[in-house]
Amino acid sequence: MPQTVLVTGGAGFIGSHTCVELLKHGHEVIVVDNFSNSSPGAVEAVQKLAGRPLPLHEADLRDRAALDAIFAEHEIDAVIHFAAKKAVGESMKIPLEYFDTNIGGTIALLRAMNDHGVRRLVFSSSCSVYGETPKVPLNEDDPAAPTNPYARTKHICEQLLGDACARYPELSVIALRYFNPIGAHPSGEIGEDPNGVPNNVLPYMAQVAVGRLAELPVFGDDYPTPDGTGVRDYIHVVDVADGHRVALDHLDDERGLRVFNLGTGSGASVLELMAEFASAVGAPIPYRVEARRPGDVPALIADAGRVERAWGWRTTRDLAAMCADAWHFQRLHPTGYSASPTV
Ligand code: UDP
Repeated sequence: MPQTVLVTGGAGFIGSHTCVELLKHGHEVIVVDNFSNSSPGAVEAVQKLAGRPLPLHEADLRDRAALDAIFAEHEIDAVIHFAAKKAVGESMKIPLEYFDTNIGGTIALLRAMNDHGVRRLVFSSSCSVYGETPKVPLNEDDPAAPTNPYARTKHICEQLLGDACARYPELSVIALRYFNPIGAHPSGEIGEDPNGVPNNVLPYMAQVAVGRLAELPVFGDDYPTPDGTGVRDYIHVVDVADGHRVALDHLDDERGLRVFNLGTGSGASVLELMAEFASAVGAPIPYRVEARRPGDVPALIADAGRVERAWGWRTTRDLAAMCADAWHFQRLHPTGYSASPTV
């Protein structure tokens, strides 16, 4: 059934890819974004790719009046909530910003949903909630133990959502804990274009490959992992986007809060990811090993079984496709969405 979906943070990396999938599957999409780490160019590209317009509201979720006006203007069936700050390292430096944006934004959104009778939500959570654990792979019943403010905000939001569902039994909420989304739409038209110096490893690497940055800092090679660098479960952003589209279809299966991992079930170290990306680029990526980044953990790999058992859904794109697609976007848009010559 086509739905009208409000996508917060719809101009961002995962948000923009999710908008494409939703529009392709016949849903109406409304985007709200404050462009703090994204640009209107992403929304233009989404419209071009999907061949359909989507209403865009530039607003901060903590602006209650602006949010109220958006809910008043549209008949919203469901919300997908991406809008948040998302970098582990940055969250160690500016934790209060993270508390305010991520927790404050979620509370404001819940209040607006409540005021306007919107009862269905897909929440963007994170594997980082599991924290430092030697367990591989991680399933949704493993204890949360955030090691940094970013992860803590995601965990607190999950807890708030659980409490809200207990009080308002008509709510259906799905929290998707994604592992490490990378890659880009295979068209090369949308991808990851953070404002400023990238915090995440793949966009950093991609900017090194196009010559915008000199070399990749590898944060620690003394972890208890096979090559000493951090291991993560990288997942193609189009798989993540597709997971959201499927989650929307399953919101009505059950009321209350449900939690699902979105990951592939296999991990790659920073050096392995770099080797795969270098082979997509056709040239080595200059790097230097630095100290561990505060807040980081050695390894995070998903047990992806719950979502497959529940919805018959699994990822379909491998690390080579993630790297090839990320490079395709970066090569076509060396300076991101800002006007730039094609190389
Ligand atoms: N990383 C790195 N250099 C960078 C950014 C990240 O070596 O410039 C490492 C980081 O220590 C972790 C992995 O890459 O092991 C993934 O980090 P990212 O910030 O992309 O995602 P996170 O897992 O922190 O959410």
